[in-house]
Amino acid sequence: MKTPKHPTLIRRFLQARQKQLQAKSPVLAASLVTIRRACGNPNCRCARGQKHLGHYLTWKVKAKTHTAYVPVDLVPQVKQWTQEHRRLKQLVHQITQLSLALIQTHVTAKRRQRGRS
Ligand SMILES: [Zn+2]
Repeated sequence: MKTPKHPTLIRRFLQARQKQLQAKSPVLAASLVTIRRACGNPNCRCARGQKHLGHYLTWKVKAKTHTAYVPVDLVPQVKQWTQEHRRLKQLVHQITQLSLALIQTHVTAKRRQRGRS
């Protein structure tokens, strides 16, 4: 997204994004990953190298990584929820840029007015 310079255009860009800022599903601020793991049973095939493939969510809290197991039938839904988070995060980032641009054009306009008087 290229940030417009004119305040009217900035406001129009802002309004369009504000409308999109609504969650269409649950939102998950986590990464969906596939991990190969051994279950710990010494008689299982995984003990001989054929590890189990599992889906997990990972997320960080204060630099510490947390993990949660995701049942295979929930993977498509969970994937969508993480994508929804990515979409909203992107929107918040763009809205921040536009809001800052709005403040900056205000400052510039005031400076211009002061220069004239
Ligand atoms: Zn196993």
